[in-house]
Amino acid sequence: VTKIGVYTSGGDAPGMNAAIRAVVRVGIAQNLEVYGIHNGYVGMMDNKIERLQLRDMANIIQRGGTVLKTGRSTEFMKPEGRVKAAQHLKAFGIDALVCIGGDGSFRGAHALWEEHQIPCVGVPGTIDNDIYGSDKTIGFDTAVNTALEAIDRIRDTAASHDRLFIIEVMGRNSGFIASHVGLAGGAEEIFAPEGNTTVDKALDRIKEAKSRGKTSSIIITAEGQKPGRAYDLAEAIRKKSGIDAKVSILGHQQRGGSPTAADRILASRMGAAAVDALLKGYCDIMIGTEGERLIQVPLDLVTKHEKKAQLDLISLANILAT
Ligand code: ADP
Repeated sequence: VTKIGVYTSGGDAPGMNAAIRAVVRVGIAQNLEVYGIHNGYVGMMDNKIERLQLRDMANIIQRGGTVLKTGRSTEFMKPEGRVKAAQHLKAFGIDALVCIGGDGSFRGAHALWEEHQIPCVGVPGTIDNDIYGSDKTIGFDTAVNTALEAIDRIRDTAASHDRLFIIEVMGRNSGFIASHVGLAGGAEEIFAPEGNTTVDKALDRIKEAKSRGKTSSIIITAEGQKPGRAYDLAEAIRKKSGIDAKVSILGHQQRGGSPTAADRILASRMGAAAVDALLKGYCDIMIGTEGERLIQVPLDLVTKHEKKAQLDLISLANILAT
């Protein structure tokens, strides 16, 4: 391996810049040429590729988003799109890749390896934390802390007016953000796609708490919650109990902002480990975490399995919010 390419793909997440920085600086320290590919697979097919130097990475470790930009492409999902991308990579002499993204991006990287023998190591970057094979993903800690800050503010106003608030957090089809911010924010009830809470159970809990003197309540719900989103939940509660719940959808603010120390450290370690793995001849794998330890997981395994949020955080939150 002498020339490596790095790109961010799919949904952006705070901490991706710290990962790019680590790939570039560790790569150069190992005498590699490092190339930045802009807009993920879109730029790979459009030849938006440039050599990066040490100083190009100045002042980005603390910035949210991704300086390489990200992208989504349906063209790349077809073999012809990948032929175009592989031609550009080969013209630059790029002989290995680091892909920072989610499971969709890893499927693309796996296809590039199978069809064009371009080795790739994945680094999991998504606020949703829903990547199989890694306990933690880059951006999750920041998103949880951002959502928590908002919830703490809403709690102030909820408590002043004796109100019930329903707060919707992100997470796609998983309840990692919901269960973590729910426990940390003292939520009375948490709706996660993996969970089994019902409107009736939530109302029982809230009424019971009220009878003990509790005046305000917060329900956290995940965006991927079936059968409905926050407003549907509010409507169901109103119909069953007459309680007029206020709804707050936190939205994309959870994707932005300066990454937490935990995310910067995780991203730096994972980026460095990805370059290390390529130099040792590994490919078609993702760098993941198991507790504090970094591990390598085959991309095939990562993309074929789903990772579900554990419900024990929700049960604990229920016991504690009395
Ligand atoms: P994430 O990486 O965050 O899961 P996406 O699912 O949007 O985000 O995937 C990012 C990009 O990866 C897609 O826009 C597409 O170009 C590429 N990709 C996704 N799935 C595949 C696949 N099965 N084969 C090839 N490329 C894919």
